[in-house]
Amino acid sequence: MGADNESAKSILNSVEKKDCKLEWTFYHQTMQVVRPQSPVNPLTPTPNQAVVIGAGLGGLASAMRLGAKGYNVTVLDRLDRPGGRGSSITQGGHRFDLGPTIVTVPQGLRELWAACGRRFDDDVNLVPMTPYYEIRWPDGSTFAARQDDAAMRAEVARLSPKDVAGYEKFLKDSEARYWFGYEDLGRRPMHKLLDLIKVLPRFAWLRADRSVYAHAARRVSDPRLRFALSFHPLFIGGDPFNVTSMYILVSHLEKAFGVHYAMGGVQAIAEAMVRVIRAQGGTVVQGAEVDEVLVQKGRASGVRLVSGAEIPAAVVVSNADAGHTYDRLLRNQPRKRWTPPKLKRARWSMGLFVWYFGTKGTREMWRDVGHHSIVVGPRYREHIKDIFIRGKLADDMSLYVHRPSVTDPSCAPAGDDTFYALSPVPHLGHDNGVDWQAEGERYREKMLKVLEERLLPGLTSRITESLVFTPETFRDRYLSPFGAGFSIEPRIFQSAWFRPHNVSEELPGLFLAGAGTHPGAGVPGVVGTAEVLGKLVPDAPGRAAAAFRMAAE
Ligand SMILES: Cc1cc2nc3c(=O)[nH]c(=O)nc-3n(C[C@H](O)[C@H](O)[C@H](O)COP(=O)(O)OP(=O)(O)OC[C@H]3O[C@@H](n4cnc5c(N)ncnc54)[C@H](O)[C@@H]3O)c2cc1C
Repeated sequence: MGADNESAKSILNSVEKKDCKLEWTFYHQTMQVVRPQSPVNPLTPTPNQAVVIGAGLGGLASAMRLGAKGYNVTVLDRLDRPGGRGSSITQGGHRFDLGPTIVTVPQGLRELWAACGRRFDDDVNLVPMTPYYEIRWPDGSTFAARQDDAAMRAEVARLSPKDVAGYEKFLKDSEARYWFGYEDLGRRPMHKLLDLIKVLPRFAWLRADRSVYAHAARRVSDPRLRFALSFHPLFIGGDPFNVTSMYILVSHLEKAFGVHYAMGGVQAIAEAMVRVIRAQGGTVVQGAEVDEVLVQKGRASGVRLVSGAEIPAAVVVSNADAGHTYDRLLRNQPRKRWTPPKLKRARWSMGLFVWYFGTKGTREMWRDVGHHSIVVGPRYREHIKDIFIRGKLADDMSLYVHRPSVTDPSCAPAGDDTFYALSPVPHLGHDNGVDWQAEGERYREKMLKVLEERLLPGLTSRITESLVFTPETFRDRYLSPFGAGFSIEPRIFQSAWFRPHNVSEELPGLFLAGAGTHPGAGVPGVVGTAEVLGKLVPDAPGRAAAAFRMAAE
């Protein structure tokens, strides 16, 4: 730990104040500060040095995989704490989990820990959720999703008895797509065109051309059930009316492996990852923004920080958004595939308006409101079209509401509650982009009205803390193109081989991990990108894998 702090200090001490110039990127609509380049990189990396740009969950999981392979890893992140979207901010005694709240497929995390010679459950306390979440429609009807088969069938029958048989077929469809899409494609590298060609017949057989909504609509007729079986792609930035029906696999994931909450928030998972990296001998540095990937003899050879400090590395992994990586960090290199016009043309996931708030003396109020609620607005298809296609900020909204204080009282002062309410909104790249400086407060007030009327009566007088993230926050905090919540949208022609590859197609020695690469966004997705990365990067030369050394100690 002491040594880790020393090396972090030495990296940050090489910071010098230099003159700045201004530069545009394809997605940043305001100008940003860019430090001038220092002379050609004089440093030559040793073969076991690796650098990871970004301490999001994908970056930290990659660092763990590289540490287990014997690399000497340095993780660099511009923020003040690890976890990226999965970190938290504490304000007035309320811990706001900023992003992911629903942890599915916990075995992915357990396997990651096992690859490092450790046990996940020794480091993180995951608790199962019952029910998983409750959906509420404007007509007052509800649907509580659970693991128990009989309870789920009863819930479906309560809304629409004639849809029970279709629901059961949907679950079978979901399982078939899970085995193919998640366990097979999702866990192996997909950077070779031949690999894609080989699986095309299976894609066709499973009707991957159909959307998630279209598939749900074939199986059930009640509009509420169609919503309940098709909204999941929104959790990873996809338009349910356009993303491939392969994503119906989420219903099987939830049913088979449960929905969990990490006590302490997903931040606790990020912090546990940092402890593993440090135990492997790695270094995690916060407050260090990478300005450019360095290149020597046509290979990635390290990174230069915005401060001017240079860190050599034989393996460079970028957990920054794939768009930011290719547009900004590789700006001085020729790019064949991920050029600025191609990145601009890509379909980006939606933006998010997230209102984090704390309430006083409410623990015994709103007894029917659980940990996860979905408050459905009056429109589905047209609302989604406003968000993804028209780029229009609608007056109505559908909300996901997080109330972790019912499971984890440590996130709020005694007797109080911690919440966030999330509304999907257009990203900043649409022609008629929203000016959030002007709209933000108006939109929050509309959200408050919906919450008062539909979920939390009396809320206004109970609010003590408030913090708002708009797509502009996502752009400026996480350097996300167009402030998108989940990087590139997971449409069929932007998935698997079509996504930016885990092994860079632009620069040898550069690898990608995180939401913008294969298999994609979400906690299991980005942990999966690190698993794929682990299959692509060879073991570090001349050094026994750290995990085995640790195990022997
Ligand atoms: C509000 C919200 C709710 C969500 N809910 C869920 C959920 O319930 N369940 C679920 O599974 N998923 C959920 N997700 C999705 C999930 O959180 C993300 O897909 C995942 O955490 C992204 O991880 P990542 O590794 O791609 O990186 P990020 O979390 O995006 O982290 C990238 C890191 O890179 C850093 N960085 C970027 N550029 C640089 C640079 N140049 N130099 C240094 N550092 C840099 C950033 O500071 C950031 O820390 C949610 C997301 C959001 C936003």
